[in-house]
Amino acid sequence: MELRAYFEKYHDEATCIEELKNQRIQNGIICKKCGHDTHSFRQNDLKFQCRKCRNRISLRSGTVMENSNLPIRYWMICIELMTLSHRKMSILKIQYLLGHKRYEPIWLMVQKIRLVMKMRDEKYRLRAYSQFDPEFLQKIDMLMIKRKTKSASS
Ligand SMILES: [Zn+2]
Repeated sequence: MELRAYFEKYHDEATCIEELKNQRIQNGIICKKCGHDTHSFRQNDLKFQCRKCRNRISLRSGTVMENSNLPIRYWMICIELMTLSHRKMSILKIQYLLGHKRYEPIWLMVQKIRLVMKMRDEKYRLRAYSQFDPEFLQKIDMLMIKRKTKSASS
């Protein structure tokens, strides 16, 4: 997608929340507590609620965005920028483009996206990226980031 069209499509956080929500529903949500697969969505706290046992899971949980306080829109824009630039864009540049004050959360976001893209490359060599491929709907924890930065520097 052309970048301009992309910014028009995901022009605000509500649109991005909707997109992620629909993508997760499409991929299927299984209740961790009872294994049921139909959920309703609670707009007020952005959680899926199991229709059977009423257990709730957050929109971001179990995705690359879990434990991040950055807007979902940042993630979507960042994934797009990194895809267009073949991952070579610097973190400082991304921070500047997003207009975010702090470097650390942006650094962490980029590390997580890079890791997902790397794992995805190993899986399918020739498939083009798209927003929220199932690979982005997986949790990346700090241990995986540490392991990766360690192996990259040695
Ligand atoms: Zn349940």
